[in-house]
Amino acid sequence: MQPLLRQLLAELGEDPGREGLLNTPKRVEKALKFLTSGYSMDVDEVLNDALFTVDYSEMVIVKDIDFYSLCEHHLLPFFGKCHVAYIPRTKVIGLSKIPRLVDMFSRRLQIQERLTSQIADTIREKINPLGVAVVMEATHLCMSMRGVEKQNSFCVTSSMLGAFRDNARTRMEFLELIKLRTALRASSEPMAVCADD
Ligand SMILES: [Zn+2]
Repeated sequence: MQPLLRQLLAELGEDPGREGLLNTPKRVEKALKFLTSGYSMDVDEVLNDALFTVDYSEMVIVKDIDFYSLCEHHLLPFFGKCHVAYIPRTKVIGLSKIPRLVDMFSRRLQIQERLTSQIADTIREKINPLGVAVVMEATHLCMSMRGVEKQNSFCVTSSMLGAFRDNARTRMEFLELIKLRTALRASSEPMAVCADD
């Protein structure tokens, strides 16, 4: 990666040989490898058997999970909060594993909509809950830094499955509990207000 990064610096009009930039290719490579380390992670490895059979069918919520990802259109960061809820049928996931699942999918080149549904779909596949809901709120630097549609640079996406899709009261209970910062319509439709030009 480092020769490419040196070439990139030159293409940008910089002198890759000047002191401040000498180690930049090495640092950028290391940073990019970390920020995309989710590619080499595996769901089962992350969950590491932390699936437990329980007699519990109330909503489980893990909210305000910080996440950092890279938009696949511009390779610029988008980041914010992720809220996850599910209603167990027979199984739960160890609570600490949910943020790790979010990290695994965030540390890839992403679009926010796909990231949101990958988290929800994985939870559905692994524990077959009565319902699962994922809401992500993020700032996209590709929009705010480039001055594109500044008012929309804060994006909210959601994936509502099972009971959260079918039952408005369940959905509202979840939305009330996460006290979404943005106005969210009471709909089960996926929400997305991201521009990707
Ligand atoms: Zn972008």
